Amino acid sequence: MRSLFLPGLPAEINSDLIRRFGGHYSDYRLYPGTEYFIEAFDANTYLSWLGNRKSGHFRRPLALYVHIPFCTSLCFYCHFNQIIPDDDADIKTYLDYLAREIRLRGKFLTGDTKVEQLYFGGGTPTLLSETQLSNIMQEIRQNFNLVKEGEYCIEIDARKITNLSMPALKEMGFNFAIIGVQDFDQLVQQSIQCLQTEENTLRAICNAQQAGFKTIRIELIYGLPKQTVQKFEYTLEKIIVANPDQINLLNYLHLPEKFKPQRNINLEDLPDTEARIEMLLLAIARLTDAGYMHIGMNLLPGATINW
Ligand code: SF4
Repeated sequence: MRSLFLPGLPAEINSDLIRRFGGHYSDYRLYPGTEYFIEAFDANTYLSWLGNRKSGHFRRPLALYVHIPFCTSLCFYCHFNQIIPDDDADIKTYLDYLAREIRLRGKFLTGDTKVEQLYFGGGTPTLLSETQLSNIMQEIRQNFNLVKEGEYCIEIDARKITNLSMPALKEMGFNFAIIGVQDFDQLVQQSIQCLQTEENTLRAICNAQQAGFKTIRIELIYGLPKQTVQKFEYTLEKIIVANPDQINLLNYLHLPEKFKPQRNINLEDLPDTEARIEMLLLAIARLTDAGYMHIGMNLLPGATINW
């Protein structure tokens, strides 16, 4: 049975509620938010916390995050840690350090290397070649124990960047595909410099489904420059037809003083609060009608919703 679930929130969400508790919050995936990062939490502090596992604390299976920071071009809405590499040598150097880090962490945690979750995020993980990605996966397997029923995610760029195929990613052990869509409208895509045809995106979703990924999650953003309720509705309808397992709906967070690429975005191109609220309420109504169950609780502007 499919039903709407709003943990910790009133059954009815309306614009007054959103306006009243509105504000800007970090993406929950960056927990703790970047505003809580302090230099005092250095490598030694990290190791000492990790060492607590040895004394019997926190003996739950591990969740590993692998960051691939490279991108081919800069999207103006970006608030991630990214680098446009000068050449392949930059990537190779990074991957050498990454392999070293995996070995060091594996050694440090000897006897306690059971992993239930793995997440490759970016940047653009699928900018790497099949050989590069396979090598990282192999390094992880040699140093950690990936359980059979674990959740192994990778963020996939639907733009054709390398010759990586969905079956190849599946073969490496990934079973959870995350595909960024943002909005299908060309004007919106131009204003954030993230050009990705509708055809390529829908094909990527279909290929991931055919390759047998256990979960496919789509990421949408509302509140982008030049975005309107009608354009967003068009994207929503197309995505509903594509039938992904999960939808992650983010509210565009405009913080140009913090995220340099966003300085390229004209303030006057951003939809106003009313339009953003309308987009949010529209998404809730349409996705619920389509049978998606609400599982996230960040319904406030600047936050994320998951279906
Ligand atoms: S939004 Fe994603 S793909 Fe675009 S520049 Fe940022 S990290 Fe790279």
